[in-house]
Amino acid sequence: MKKDGHIHSPFCPHGTKDSFEKYIEKAIELNFSEITFTEHAPLPTNFVDPTPEKDSGMLPKDLTSYLETVKELKQQYKEQITIKVGLEVDYIVGYETETRALLDIAGPVLDDAILSVHFLKHNDTYTCIDFSDEVYLDFAKQVGGVEALYNLYYDTVLKSIDAKLGRFKPRRIGHPTLVHKFQLAHGEKIQDDSRIVEILTKMQEKGYVLDANSAGLNKPFCKEPYPPMHMIEYARSIELPIVFGSDAHSVKDLHQHYETIMK
Ligand code: ZN
Ligand code: FE
Repeated sequence: MKKDGHIHSPFCPHGTKDSFEKYIEKAIELNFSEITFTEHAPLPTNFVDPTPEKDSGMLPKDLTSYLETVKELKQQYKEQITIKVGLEVDYIVGYETETRALLDIAGPVLDDAILSVHFLKHNDTYTCIDFSDEVYLDFAKQVGGVEALYNLYYDTVLKSIDAKLGRFKPRRIGHPTLVHKFQLAHGEKIQDDSRIVEILTKMQEKGYVLDANSAGLNKPFCKEPYPPMHMIEYARSIELPIVFGSDAHSVKDLHQHYETIMK
């Protein structure tokens, strides 16, 4: 069964305005039997988005309309494809209460969701590590180097797996090696397999699911999926459930590299 569990939408403030219908029609054309729209959930209102345009998450006022729209499309296309109503929720250290409150509200209408780390906390400030190579490299310096940055990322992902986010906590962990996004920009070879194994093992033990995310393959400074192929193989070897995610922010990125990852 072909499934793409990580798709953005016209509600994404930093993505394209490609219509839902175009995503859905392409998915049907390519014989996908199930897709989940996982738009970036609104960030906690007391959290200051560190990106210049403050556009990492959906606007809080759009949440209801997003959920309603996907629900309608789900009905409309139900004979042709299974569409799931989802969100990509940020795990932000220190904002667990707010995140749980959002999940308590949206949870009852969600079919599926992803929990992802994009923001890292250091010295009481937050940095979005997938924004740009400049921001990333500068942040690596602040935390004491690239290896320290990798460890900070993995520690945060581990916290996200342990976080108490209530009964609607997402079961799928988004792109757990997003910190590799600029690996060809820093050029250091970091031996982090044991950290990734630690994360995948914990996910398996606690009943989580891996977002095997192909978006990194198209990033000029990454050129590998999140997590890298040999770690996706490792996840399979320990029977950690895997869901393919294209993380498409445009119709052209939909299902990107599906065959590479799901072979
Ligand atoms: Zn996004
Ligand atoms: Fe993400």
